[in-house]
Amino acid sequence: MQEEFKRQGSHLQSCPPLERWDDWAENDAQAWPRRLERHYRLLPTLCFSCEAGCGLLTYIDKQSGEISRVEGNPLHPGNRGRVCAKGPALLNQIRSPDRILYPLRRDGPRGSNRWRRVTWDEVLETLGSRIRTALQEGRGGEVMYHVGRPGHDGYMERVLQAWGIDGHNSHTNICSASARLGYALWQGADRPSPDYANASCILLISAHLEAGHYFNPHAQRIMEAKMAGAKLIVIDPRLSNTASMADTWLSPYPGTEAAILLAMASVLLRSGRFDAPFMRDWVNWQDYEADGFVAKGKSFDEFIAALVRHYERYTPEFAEELSGVPASAIRQTASDIAAAGGRFSSHIWRAAAAGNYGGWQTARALVLLHALTGSVGAQGGLSPNTWDKFVPQPAKVPPPQRQWNELLYPPEWPLSHHELSQLLPHFLKEGRGRLDTYFTRVFNPVWTYPDGFSWLEVLRDEDLIGLHAALTPVWSETAAFADYVLPMGLACERHDVQSQETHATRWIGFRQPVTRVFRELERAELVRFTYETNPGEVWEEDEFWTALSWRIDPDGSMGIRQWFESEAHPGTPLSVDEYYGYMFSSSVPGLPEAAAARSLSPLEYMRRFGAFELPGDVYSLNQRALVAAELEGAVACGDLLTKGGSSIGVVVKGRPVAGYDTPSRKLELYSPTLCDWEWPEMALPEYVPSHVGPEALAATAYDGGTDEHPWPAGTPRVVWPPHATGEVMALVPIYRLPTLIHTRNDNAKWLFEISHRNPLLMSAPDAARLGLATGDLVRVHTEIGWYVIALWVTEGLRPGVVACSHHLGRWRRERDEPLERWASSVVEVSQPAPGQWALRVKEGARPWASSDPDSSRIWWTDTGVHQNLTFPVHPDPVSGMQCWHQLVKVQRALVGDHYGDVFVDTAAAHQVYQRWKGLCRPAPGPGGLRRPIWFARVARPVPEAYVMPHS
Ligand code: SF4
Repeated sequence: MQEEFKRQGSHLQSCPPLERWDDWAENDAQAWPRRLERHYRLLPTLCFSCEAGCGLLTYIDKQSGEISRVEGNPLHPGNRGRVCAKGPALLNQIRSPDRILYPLRRDGPRGSNRWRRVTWDEVLETLGSRIRTALQEGRGGEVMYHVGRPGHDGYMERVLQAWGIDGHNSHTNICSASARLGYALWQGADRPSPDYANASCILLISAHLEAGHYFNPHAQRIMEAKMAGAKLIVIDPRLSNTASMADTWLSPYPGTEAAILLAMASVLLRSGRFDAPFMRDWVNWQDYEADGFVAKGKSFDEFIAALVRHYERYTPEFAEELSGVPASAIRQTASDIAAAGGRFSSHIWRAAAAGNYGGWQTARALVLLHALTGSVGAQGGLSPNTWDKFVPQPAKVPPPQRQWNELLYPPEWPLSHHELSQLLPHFLKEGRGRLDTYFTRVFNPVWTYPDGFSWLEVLRDEDLIGLHAALTPVWSETAAFADYVLPMGLACERHDVQSQETHATRWIGFRQPVTRVFRELERAELVRFTYETNPGEVWEEDEFWTALSWRIDPDGSMGIRQWFESEAHPGTPLSVDEYYGYMFSSSVPGLPEAAAARSLSPLEYMRRFGAFELPGDVYSLNQRALVAAELEGAVACGDLLTKGGSSIGVVVKGRPVAGYDTPSRKLELYSPTLCDWEWPEMALPEYVPSHVGPEALAATAYDGGTDEHPWPAGTPRVVWPPHATGEVMALVPIYRLPTLIHTRNDNAKWLFEISHRNPLLMSAPDAARLGLATGDLVRVHTEIGWYVIALWVTEGLRPGVVACSHHLGRWRRERDEPLERWASSVVEVSQPAPGQWALRVKEGARPWASSDPDSSRIWWTDTGVHQNLTFPVHPDPVSGMQCWHQLVKVQRALVGDHYGDVFVDTAAAHQVYQRWKGLCRPAPGPGGLRRPIWFARVARPVPEAYVMPHS
């Protein structure tokens, strides 16, 4: 830490020195010109806005006991004291006059927006007895927990497995499932960990520097590399802030990114500029079978010749024809990548992977460049995330559940990387099941998901969802249709342990309720529950789930209570201090020693520093020699080492080593898994025509395809409603704004003052051709409806494409409803006919009187347009990912159209779902399995549950 301050130089410091965190004195700026000294205790926590888990430092006024400021924690290895705008804006959220402070129960029909304050005791008793009955009646599959932002590693899986249910649903299939599948097929681990800081060439597909995954920790390291001379290349149809910082910006037509990457791979292969020794040792080339060539029994050189032949068709000219990116730029980028060799780093997360049908193949095409350059696991390259992440373990872990819930992992999508969460309303409508008790937690599908009105239809239906409890720190469009709204803590009001692969190291961070810790340390108060020190009765999930588990199984006879019972004080609930105290003392290498060196317990260390960086190597872990204990009982099958039917390592150059987490322990260029599960044509990284790609665009312009412009084979077809007219264009709807994260920044007034509009971006040539100008209202038609939005004409977008950020367009139905009044408009929601929904803005943002004087100073009225409502579900038949991009028809707004109008036909939405489902190749797979055993699964059940009944 002292080195950090020394590095910052002289007496000017960006943060008070650690020695003074217990009593930091500074003058009160508000009292100026008087000199009024105030004293603070500084306590760390973690940001809860995006997934980066940056360290924050809270300043707690010793006199009032309240948080007066939030800054970055300089001791956190990931962000090193730096934060984006969302970190300090936590202060707005803490103090928001629109906060939910007490548990509420609806006091009228669902969605009536009438609420009554209740006690936590009533909440626990109602939910506990309901879940107990469901479990006792064998209806565990009707209890579901659906999470938006987890913020912790494994906590809820433990709770649900203690209950014995398969009930974990996530948001991953509208977020990252596609990229995850691409990475997992190559390396086992489903995320990349780029070592940007040491890279000499960085390729970003989308806006990772500006607003992407691990935004701040990544951004600062990308800039460090750039300042050290690294080349930054960005592939994005839109000139994002990231692209504006790049040395090279390639602006492709959406959906063609894989063709560009494969053309680069082909250039490397044909020119011989690839790392042959790495490929020979670490790629599963002996499994390769394509174009009549079978590698088994052949030489590596023969394999390479076959590989060159296979990718020969992906010429830069072929990619240029599809994407519009010049072949010369593709060749130059390939050359830059080849020159970087092992120091080639990259990322793709949402963007092309999340936007397109077959987007997971774009991630695979990107990793092919890493295999060719030998940069997988190298310094300055790209590692599996599991090498740069550490998940500590609690004292007691329940056994895996014996159930398989087909509402989560249905048979049609056996290779989906996560739960088919976006399809839940359609599954319920189809009669695949019902939910007795449904928890949503930091989750707002009515607004964040596609097809929000289908969500609204099932959320209102008490036959389909018996009870809905929304655990949330903020109001949301979804919470408005719950039975219980349960206020949960913000980043400084809860406990979580989180680790993320922000760079080439391993760290854990500790989120903590700082006001509680302050009162325990500063005032020696005995606090039983975190809600006693949070605002109102805002609770935290850790204590809530423990208390609820006790209510489900009050006498321990169901075998549930044991997992939530104190070891130190049998017969009493497990406390957060005991839970985390054990975890930090027993399962984090190096932490007990680091704590002892400062005369602290491991828990005290984490409460004081907020993060810990683990010792150990993080590069080339595939070459880690297996130790004797690992080899004991292992069976050799060729070079592969197996134990109990699972591969544990591989012999390379005569050494038994760990390899990668794939069945072959090699990087799987050729995927036997895809062949076994009926997708043989996808066994290699390939270009898959997107549902919005140039082929589909040409076909749809001719009303669904002609002989001259056929619909691309296997690609889901767009069927337009009769009223849809206008220019057919590809809509890129998923880019982030650097200042907002979905619903989680509710009530952050500073952020919404900066960002409150999401106009439709259109290129200047397109606008000129269509006679449109900035500010003009346009109608954007999708397959299931339309929205009306204002235009923003720009030079920073590929012609033929329109773009709109998904971060704005929040709404509430009544003028005084406390739903994010800084950022939401009052709307009227109506149903012109069964299955038809209309939303019209009645009033934009406006000043209002509250305890915060700033609420009377709102100067903006526009809060954006909610485009997601008009998007149908597009579940990729392999990854299960929502393919977010849309082919749309854009026309000048019609007479009577108002800014923000939305119209949706949910019957049409269900038909689109059926069309996409029809492309699936369902389970069972080999051995009658529902899903490959080696694939990751959240809250993994027992192996027997993987076997389909009657198979
Ligand atoms: S929003 Fe993300 S990048 Fe910004 S401070 Fe929080 S964790 Fe860090």
